[in-house]
Amino acid sequence: MTRPAQAGRPPARGPATRSTRPARDFLIDLRTWPRDRGGRWELALEPSAPQDWGGGLIRLPAGGPIRLELVLEAVGQGIWLTGRAAFELVGQCARCLDPINRPAQAELQDLFLRSTRAPDGPDDDSALIQDDVIDLEPLVRDAIVIDLPLAPLCYDDCAGLCASCGANLNREPAHRHGPAADRRWAALADWVPSQSETTG
Ligand SMILES: [Zn+2]
Ligand SMILES: [Zn+2]
Repeated sequence: MTRPAQAGRPPARGPATRSTRPARDFLIDLRTWPRDRGGRWELALEPSAPQDWGGGLIRLPAGGPIRLELVLEAVGQGIWLTGRAAFELVGQCARCLDPINRPAQAELQDLFLRSTRAPDGPDDDSALIQDDVIDLEPLVRDAIVIDLPLAPLCYDDCAGLCASCGANLNREPAHRHGPAADRRWAALADWVPSQSETTG
């Protein structure tokens, strides 16, 4: 099996790395902060992935819904954001190649700073509040993509495929081949490394 492509390491955050306009459903307009909530605002959003996030054997597909539960707290120079993203991953088991379709979650946490300066180049790693708007997309994308496994499994003890014929050993747990297929290795069956051999 070939090693799956590196699961889309997210590029550094910043306007310069964005390939498209901000997805509107990832934006929080702080001017709509409810007056009666004081310095703490809990809200839920349901954006969808603007493109495939991830790659290789598992991803959140483009258009896949994301449920965001967020807590925004006003702090000195900005907004401290914590929360959780819930979404559905699709992919393929690295051992048995069966389709994977399962719910997943990612924790969110970031400080968004108010800034009056213009956005810097791609080296600027701070999350900024621009025109009273927070763009959650880079934060959510990074949190989801970073946790994706390179070798996802349909379940933890997936038995995989028979190395000889490719039969799915989850569906055929009793699958065996006759001794003829293994004749070349028969001698190994009785071989046990002894202490004197391994220590020289
Ligand atoms: Zn599997
Ligand atoms: Zn087999």
